[in-house]
Amino acid sequence: MTYRAPVADIAFTLKHAAGLGRAIEEGLYGDLTEELVDAVIAEAGKFATEVIAPLNLVGDKHGTPFRDGSVIMPPGWKEAYRDWAAAGWNGLAAPADWGGQGLPHALSAACIEMWNSASAAFAIGPVLTMAGIEALAAHGSDDLQRTYLPKLVSGEWMGTMQLTEPQAGSDVGALRARAERVGDGTYRITGQKIFITYGEHDLTDNIVHFVLARLPDAPSGTKGISLFLVPKFLVNADGTLGGANDARCHSIEHKLGIHGSPTCTMVYGDHGGAVAYLIGEENRGMNCMFTMMNNARLAVGLQGVGIAERATQQALAYARERRQGRAPGASGSSPIIAHADVRRMLMTMRALTRAARAICFATATAIDRAQRHDDKAERRDAHDRASLLTPVAKAFSTDVGIEVASLGVQVHGGMGYVEETGAAQHFRDARIAAIYEGTNGIQAIDLVTRKLPLADGAAVRAYVDELRETVVAVAAVNDPALGHTAARLAEAIECLDRATAWLLGRLDKTPDAALAGATPYLRLLATAAGGAMLAEDALAAIRASGQGADPTGRAAAARFFAENLAVQASGLERTVVEGADSIAEAEAALA
Ligand SMILES: Cc1cc2nc3c(=O)[nH]c(=O)nc-3n(C[C@H](O)[C@H](O)[C@H](O)COP(=O)(O)OP(=O)(O)OC[C@H]3O[C@@H](n4cnc5c(N)ncnc54)[C@H](O)[C@@H]3O)c2cc1C
Repeated sequence: MTYRAPVADIAFTLKHAAGLGRAIEEGLYGDLTEELVDAVIAEAGKFATEVIAPLNLVGDKHGTPFRDGSVIMPPGWKEAYRDWAAAGWNGLAAPADWGGQGLPHALSAACIEMWNSASAAFAIGPVLTMAGIEALAAHGSDDLQRTYLPKLVSGEWMGTMQLTEPQAGSDVGALRARAERVGDGTYRITGQKIFITYGEHDLTDNIVHFVLARLPDAPSGTKGISLFLVPKFLVNADGTLGGANDARCHSIEHKLGIHGSPTCTMVYGDHGGAVAYLIGEENRGMNCMFTMMNNARLAVGLQGVGIAERATQQALAYARERRQGRAPGASGSSPIIAHADVRRMLMTMRALTRAARAICFATATAIDRAQRHDDKAERRDAHDRASLLTPVAKAFSTDVGIEVASLGVQVHGGMGYVEETGAAQHFRDARIAAIYEGTNGIQAIDLVTRKLPLADGAAVRAYVDELRETVVAVAAVNDPALGHTAARLAEAIECLDRATAWLLGRLDKTPDAALAGATPYLRLLATAAGGAMLAEDALAAIRASGQGADPTGRAAAARFFAENLAVQASGLERTVVEGADSIAEAEAALA
């Protein structure tokens, strides 16, 4: 169950396919240099490899026992978290005004991938804290920011994100947790939240809950939701910890994977109501929560990438060692990597992982651009790009996490199905990421109903045009190592273009048909985009080969993706355009 952070690979994709290098050249990041980017990634990779990765199995085996109202984290986790926070990793992309380093989200994304490869159960806590920091920095009052941001940024306290209730999962508007005005500017919360990640633990002295609740006179649905900050322990005026708030963990869930991450049922108001502070305006909580959720969605996408990377590394090592059968032309028994079908699995794992990584990093670069560019029109376009790509980054990458981890089990054969090798843990851990932070079905609906219509469809069309530019560049180099990459990618992009036009034409007239095609459409967009990004990486590697670098691996991955995976685009287009009717008729088949 070893993991070695692929720092060179990550840095390459960040700079080329995701455009960080170009952004640095343009001056988007001030005096940030590529050398600093390399140094940060190398240091994070070292910490992930040496300190966190060995704790992954410990977390899986030990879980997070719940005793007398407290959650006990797995052995070694508290020390690892302390050292991780002390090294400044929690505040990497946080505002410098609050003690953060103000580094790019793109660089933070690279690190988040590595924390997740090392241990998804470990990483999910801090990424929710980071999301809370974003929301508080964007929408909190000066007072709240002064009291909570420095400790959240340093990692001294952790945060949680609390939407879900038994009757309110995907349908957040159905939530019932109640907030009452007290008259002194504070509120009292009563109610129950379920499935709360890191709702209770012993890693930090205080936990800052970001809770959605409804005021008594609030309109129904999502327009009547407000966001509150509810500390586990109240904070005195001098910043020291006061008494316990009226908030407790009632129980924890027993689940398929991420056993090191406590999933808590939280109860508010046993004694009249938990003291709560409003973030932003009353009834505008969803607005604030979206700041938090977009950040968390990308981070969960990176969880998929992280697990996929680790599963790939492990499967590769096993395939080189395990000997079975005789490959054509071999004289004795062969390592299973010599068999074409095993190589097909390994190449699929590698290509999907790299494509998902590139999409996530490109999303992070777009977020940076939207926040940092001097020009208003550039900021708006980048904002639209980030909005378009966020559901794709979340859903595609988490699907890839599951598919790649499943292939990892397959490469191990029976040894993958038993727990000994760790391949099974990756598969179990990966499964949740397609469910939380908005299920992948909800991401696809978001993409089709909210993101495609952005700027009257101009945002997605501009993206498709950009993908076409990559094809032109691939065709122009005409490198035999890229095989049929240009032709297969061109076909995939035209499939995407036609499916996009079809959906945009159906959204108003036959929304049901558009919704039926949402999930295959998201996969189609990711397939075209991922293929183009791998081709961008290959082109950059070919250009760099003049300086002695070897482009073979990148060209092979891009070619494999185009010739073996991008060709699925025509089937996906057909599913989008022709699949809706049979889904409308599904009742008979499901009877
Ligand atoms: C381990 C774990 C950790 C979690 N951590 C947190 C956390 O920290 N904070 C928090 O607030 N929540 C958390 N959650 C909750 C998680 O976000 C929800 O489980 C998720 O949003 C789905 O809601 P649900 O489980 O009620 O499923 P449902 O909403 O009941 O969905 C069931 C199925 O129906 C589909 N579906 C639902 N509505 C629609 C629709 N309108 N159109 C099409 N399809 C639809 C879904 O895609 C899904 O496939 C966690 C859950 C788990 C299991």
